[in-house]
Amino acid sequence: MDFTYPPEAEAFRTEFRTWLEAHLTDEFRGDADGPLMMSGANLAALRRWNGMLADARYAAISWPREFGGRGAGIMEQVVFAEEMQRAGAPGTLNPIGLANIAPAIIEFGTDAQRRTHLSRMLRGDDVWCQGFSEPDAGSDLASLSCRAELVDDHFVVNGQKTWNTYGHLANWCELLVRTDPDRPKHRGISCLLVDLTLPGVEVRPLVTITGDHEFNEIFFTDVRVPATSLLGPLHDGWRVAMTTLAYERGGVAGLHLGLRAKIQRLIDDATGIDATRDPVNRQALAALYLEGELLKLIADRAISGALHGRALGPEGSIAKLVWSEAEQYLGEVAGEVLGPDANAGSWGRTRVYMRALTIAGGTTQVNKNIIAQRILGLPRQ
Ligand SMILES: Cc1cc2nc3c(=O)[nH]c(=O)nc-3n(C[C@H](O)[C@H](O)[C@H](O)COP(=O)(O)OP(=O)(O)OC[C@H]3O[C@@H](n4cnc5c(N)ncnc54)[C@H](O)[C@@H]3O)c2cc1C
Repeated sequence: MDFTYPPEAEAFRTEFRTWLEAHLTDEFRGDADGPLMMSGANLAALRRWNGMLADARYAAISWPREFGGRGAGIMEQVVFAEEMQRAGAPGTLNPIGLANIAPAIIEFGTDAQRRTHLSRMLRGDDVWCQGFSEPDAGSDLASLSCRAELVDDHFVVNGQKTWNTYGHLANWCELLVRTDPDRPKHRGISCLLVDLTLPGVEVRPLVTITGDHEFNEIFFTDVRVPATSLLGPLHDGWRVAMTTLAYERGGVAGLHLGLRAKIQRLIDDATGIDATRDPVNRQALAALYLEGELLKLIADRAISGALHGRALGPEGSIAKLVWSEAEQYLGEVAGEVLGPDANAGSWGRTRVYMRALTIAGGTTQVNKNIIAQRILGLPRQ
């Protein structure tokens, strides 16, 4: 692991920090919980903030310039994430679209698809969600059954998706469908870019234990999707899906920023209260601090690898595992140290929400399988 921040990255830091100081007003700042969340009351402010980021080419700095990005290198992307976290700045209206779906459109899309979708996504004119999981296809995604039949110049889509984050805010969906049920399961899947305002689409809310409406189920009944919406080759949507998920997992490099900020907040909240005289609590806080530092080292290793041209590969599973388990440990330690105060306000929500993190984006068990097979070289189960 060897990297430094080159002078260009530090120059970018100065430029971006100056921009943030001039533009990030209280209207766009969140509270102790963190940056503004994607929910009703905040959407108008987030839309304005998204527009400002896009105008200044800060909405997706890694994208090529021709699509509104800056073609930024890895260290500029690291600096960008650090400065956003430091300032408490919110992201865009398209966290899933920009990070996961757009790279698949850039790689597999036709010129017309790139022209139609990328700049609207960048500006938040369209909001995107990911339609992969189904009630009977989560970890085993390739067993999905949402069906699309090609009839003349349209696909006719029937089926159900679930756990669609921001599906209620989205008007577009990257949808995985089965286009050939007679082929082996990984080979009969295609990826469609679907306008969620088409007749036959129904989005139903799923309210989580935190009381938030973040997820949805999406039902498709005889939805006629133009054949031009196919992303990548027919029946080869698995490759498009893996590209999308690779970018989702690539995002793990920045996870330590949020985790370490929360650990520091817990240490600050605990400082001076009686519970920190208890040696068990003191050791738990120290162990938690080390988890945060460990995750930073894992991220630094991934960044160093990327600078040397190595793809992230199965190491992404280590970062996902360490991060999600450390977030849950943070919740436990907050409960022990802060007592009943940890059940209310921002700690209360954080402690309940973090239960989802060992499921989202690949469960703990599935990540352990990947590590066992692809890093340790153990045989498949
Ligand atoms: C916060 C959050 C956001 C999400 N957002 C989206 C989204 O926007 N779009 C979308 O399409 N999906 C989304 N999902 C769904 C997510 O991808 C799935 O929940 C996840 O892939 C697990 O699938 P599942 O829920 O069907 O569980 P299952 O796959 O049914 O797993 C159930 C249990 O069995 C275990 N298990 C499964 N297979 C194995 C195995 N081979 N070996 C050992 N154990 C195994 C799992 O670890 C788990 O404990 C989201 C989920 C969460 C929690």
